Amino acid sequence: MPNLDFFQLYRDIIAIPSISSTDPAWDQSNQGVIQLLADWFTQLGFTIEITPVPDLPGKFNLVATLGQGEGGLLLAGHTDTVPFDAGRWSKDPFTVTEENNRLYGLGTIDMKGFFAFIAIALQELDLSQLKKPLRILATADEETTMAGARAIAEAATIKPDYAVIGEPTGLVPVMMHKGHMSESIRVTGKSGHSSDPANGVNAIEIMHKVLGKLTLLQQELKSKYSNQHFKVPYPTLNFGAIHGGDSANRICGCCELQIDLRPIPGVSPEELIEMLESNLSEVHECHPGCLHISHMHDPIPPYACAPESDLIREAELATGHQAESVNYCTEAPFVQQLGCDTLVLGPGHITQAHQPDEYLDLSFVTPTKEVLMHLVRRFCF
Ligand SMILES: [Zn+2]
Repeated sequence: MPNLDFFQLYRDIIAIPSISSTDPAWDQSNQGVIQLLADWFTQLGFTIEITPVPDLPGKFNLVATLGQGEGGLLLAGHTDTVPFDAGRWSKDPFTVTEENNRLYGLGTIDMKGFFAFIAIALQELDLSQLKKPLRILATADEETTMAGARAIAEAATIKPDYAVIGEPTGLVPVMMHKGHMSESIRVTGKSGHSSDPANGVNAIEIMHKVLGKLTLLQQELKSKYSNQHFKVPYPTLNFGAIHGGDSANRICGCCELQIDLRPIPGVSPEELIEMLESNLSEVHECHPGCLHISHMHDPIPPYACAPESDLIREAELATGHQAESVNYCTEAPFVQQLGCDTLVLGPGHITQAHQPDEYLDLSFVTPTKEVLMHLVRRFCF
């Protein structure tokens, strides 16, 4: 067995920038991190498979496998980080700084550091005892499009029984979250001189009808659905932005509304889109060809793990915490499409993620290592 040093692993993985961003000026390849992980897990006896993410040059997923057959456990995480605000960091984001019993650096908890935890936990296990396969998944672009996880779900080349995604949950098992959708509703009318309304078709007036209908849809979502695991127990619809027209003396020819929808588990994004369309059908009939609805990004579905899953029970046992729901999104709905019970569980607090001076509290090291060892023993030995 190699002698992997936790702090060295941390320093090495944080030192390789792997920012993903919808802004091309920030966006970077994750290839360096993928190669580093290939090196770590090769040393631990794993077989490595690296696949390019379709249509995204420079972006890669990695699957490392130890053991034969199907089933077993998948330990998963993303290799990218968000961009950073240099002016607000008091330390170099790419140099791990140990201070006050903390490791500071970009990705220390969200979540490149999780791969170092996996490596040191596996190093202490007798991996010759594996009876079911153990796999590591490292994805690209979680922070932007989740394209890496979407590609893994689409390819479906692995079929684990259980999956754990090491996002920073404060080492509390997370078994559900809502989905997230951003939709644009565009009204195209016809501009004209304001002196005679008959000169055009006023997009703001049509949008007014749209807003009235959507306010009714908000109420319908609230009364039709309920999931008491969430503080806001129903799917929400938020009016986020509206833009239309250019001057007071012109009939407004175009108006766009941007809304955010958050489906609860059991309500698919497709279902919400159908509700949206049928809700607006009257406006559509009144003004044929004027309304256009489109995704501003691919929807992230909601996620929930079956409450009776052994994975939840074992994670609760190992951590001493009851599984809960959270209000942020992860790759869980895509990983789950592999057919595995999926849980989100990892070191560090989400409030520290996407913040200047992101850090891992070192008090997480021993408990996280022990939880991972427990889960590998329970599901692979
Ligand atoms: Zn993350």
